[in-house]
Amino acid sequence: MKPTIGTTSILDRQGMKRSDEAYLAGLLAKSATRFMLLADQKPVINSNAERTEATIRWLTRADIEKAGLPVTNDETLFLGVDRQSGIAHFAIGVTEHRTRNAPGVLEFLRPVVDLRTLAMQGVMSAEDLSIAGQAKALIQWHENARCCGHCGGTTLVKDGGWKRKCWACGLEHFPRTDPVVIMLVVDKKGNRCLLGHEARFAKEPKMYSTLAGFIEPGEDIDHAVQREVFEEAGIRVGEVRYHSTQPWPFPHSLMIGCIGYAETTDITIDPTEIEEARWFGVDEIKQMLAGKHPSNWWVPGKQAIARSLIKSFAEGKI
Ligand SMILES: [Zn+2]
Repeated sequence: MKPTIGTTSILDRQGMKRSDEAYLAGLLAKSATRFMLLADQKPVINSNAERTEATIRWLTRADIEKAGLPVTNDETLFLGVDRQSGIAHFAIGVTEHRTRNAPGVLEFLRPVVDLRTLAMQGVMSAEDLSIAGQAKALIQWHENARCCGHCGGTTLVKDGGWKRKCWACGLEHFPRTDPVVIMLVVDKKGNRCLLGHEARFAKEPKMYSTLAGFIEPGEDIDHAVQREVFEEAGIRVGEVRYHSTQPWPFPHSLMIGCIGYAETTDITIDPTEIEEARWFGVDEIKQMLAGKHPSNWWVPGKQAIARSLIKSFAEGKI
């Protein structure tokens, strides 16, 4: 099982071509070109009445113009070209504030659903989740990059949305991806793994998950894992092995999944980070994965890289 956001890349991002404004303008003019809208960063979708299935609602240029929204190089973010059909895909971010100036557009946009909810509910395909995740992370960055961090000047959109350039000092700004380590810590014999319960996690029934934290400037992955585990649970980790990654566009993180091999076992938690941490044996983990734990304790769902790490432990693949 793989996490679903970012597991597919059906679009060729064409990084070499997106600085060519005439090329992008040509794509924008094509009738087959597809646009997705995100209203306040929530994707506009198609959904059945029961909300058990959702797909991105792809629109044409004519649809967008009918809704009173501009289709210009500044407003459209180039996601890429479908590797098979050659059709170009763009995203447009709109805010509720802006849609007030385009009468009727709010009705036209419904339904919009928060991407995290769509991912957690598992109602969207990996392809659509991956594209929506790319659009969401990029739009979120634009929201926060309107001014130059160096001189405070206004920044202008370049390269189909993959760059902003300061109008005043010329400094170029690029979309951010924030690296996060997410680690399953196991004891030396591989018999037990360490999971934590944070205050923000569901309590009734209680959810446990892997520890995680941002990598700090100047830090490599191994040291980030060792530092975070010691800070949160007081456990010393030695060897660190890479497991897998998952883009997590909330707001624009990259989760780097690791296995950390513990050198100590006594837990001392940092109550400002987590409420509880404990060791779990394989049998108990299998119960939690199967939803058959006697106390109904559970672990994150299949859309999360945490579950992928925990499942590897249950299957003895660490
Ligand atoms: Zn500047």
